[in-house]
Amino acid sequence: MLFEPHIYQPHAWKLLSRSFESGKVAGTYLFYGPEGTGQWPLAHAFTALLNCSDRRTDDLSGTTLPCGKCHSCRAIIGFNSPQLLYAVPLKTKTERKDGKQEDIDAVNEVLALQKEEPFRLHTHDKQLSIPIELARDIQRRLSLKGEEGATRVALFFEMEKMRGDAADSLLKLIEEPPSNTVIVLTSANEHALPITIRSRSQEIRLRRIPAGIIQSYIEHQCGLSAERAAVVARTSGGSMGRAIAISTANEDEGFDRNIGFRLFKSLVSDSKAETTSHLLDMISDKDRGQADDLLTLWQTLIRDCAGFSATGDADHIVNVDFQQDIIRFAPHFSEPIVVAGCALSIKNTLADLRRNVHIHGALVGLSLNMKGHLAQRTTGR
Ligand SMILES: [Zn+2]
Repeated sequence: MLFEPHIYQPHAWKLLSRSFESGKVAGTYLFYGPEGTGQWPLAHAFTALLNCSDRRTDDLSGTTLPCGKCHSCRAIIGFNSPQLLYAVPLKTKTERKDGKQEDIDAVNEVLALQKEEPFRLHTHDKQLSIPIELARDIQRRLSLKGEEGATRVALFFEMEKMRGDAADSLLKLIEEPPSNTVIVLTSANEHALPITIRSRSQEIRLRRIPAGIIQSYIEHQCGLSAERAAVVARTSGGSMGRAIAISTANEDEGFDRNIGFRLFKSLVSDSKAETTSHLLDMISDKDRGQADDLLTLWQTLIRDCAGFSATGDADHIVNVDFQQDIIRFAPHFSEPIVVAGCALSIKNTLADLRRNVHIHGALVGLSLNMKGHLAQRTTGR
């Protein structure tokens, strides 16, 4: 799938393939669109196209594809091509002691995971940024002479997590690009990028991936039944990365925190009732323990939101893996009447579950109740 961009991003690939065919490859590209829609695979496929020694034409899409077999393609598949330079968001510096070596180790760690599954989401919910040292290191390496006839590609992933100093260094690179070099930036939030960078980039929009393509991919990659894969694909919102996260999270524990959190999110953020009900389908109707875990998670999430809303102190957040969203949702739980209403509804539902009520019915009822409590909020709208 890595080298089948015409399948997961047909529109973007058509543009990239055409610019290559017509000899008009831009100096800088910005791949933007919802997270998990193929930023990593697309960037690798494009690098492969630029360097492949045995390209072929796909008759159906009319695009040019890399062979996937030549020396250059194989190195790119292995994420160890000398033509590829990576900048990825890492933990912010204050949390780390050492300098450069630590950066390199951290990047390699990310690359090892992405190589295993290029569609997986690298990060979210964590405070990360692209360190200035990485941007500078790429700049330095690009100033050295490259391999004869090869096109180097510098990849800056999740550009919205790049801070000012690193962005300045990148801007210099974009303005004075070394020869035979293409810069690829990716972002799930292109509006967060400095206009100076956007205006110098050719923007390529990544679209949501059709559910059918996601379904067949995760069915094979994650070993899901066709039935389960269909449900996951439907709830992934066209994000392969999210579908993979749902498919692989906490398989052994029977309860998936990510699904639990997404359900919570759908209650708070005015999603369609349909979204909530699709997600509820993923909670077993027979497993009372799972429903219990779900509600316990919600209790702690509400406590985190209310606590942050009252104190503004993120250090007391228990569910650190969802910290950013908790901070975002905190204003919904700024009023005691909302918090108390939700807490009581959850408590009652937990008691109901112990009395052998129908699990899905109880959860649907609770969802409606909670939406009602959340709608009571009087300020901050
Ligand atoms: Zn090739």
